[in-house]
Amino acid sequence: MSETMGKVCVSCGRLSSEYVSFKCPGCLKETIIRDRSCREKHTRYVCPNCHTEGP
Ligand SMILES: [Zn+2]
Ligand SMILES: [Zn+2]
Repeated sequence: MSETMGKVCVSCGRLSSEYVSFKCPGCLKETIIRDRSCREKHTRYVCPNCHTEGP
């Protein structure tokens, strides 16, 4: 896999290679992707599956 691979942050929609992923606490099915800047700023996210919001 190349280093250009990344994931789209659910908060800002930007493609990022520095991200964290975790299961949605609401539905435990959707994987939430957040880039580093959104994580540090605690930007709000919304699960695309169950619409749970989180900090
Ligand atoms: Zn982001
Ligand atoms: Zn969810």
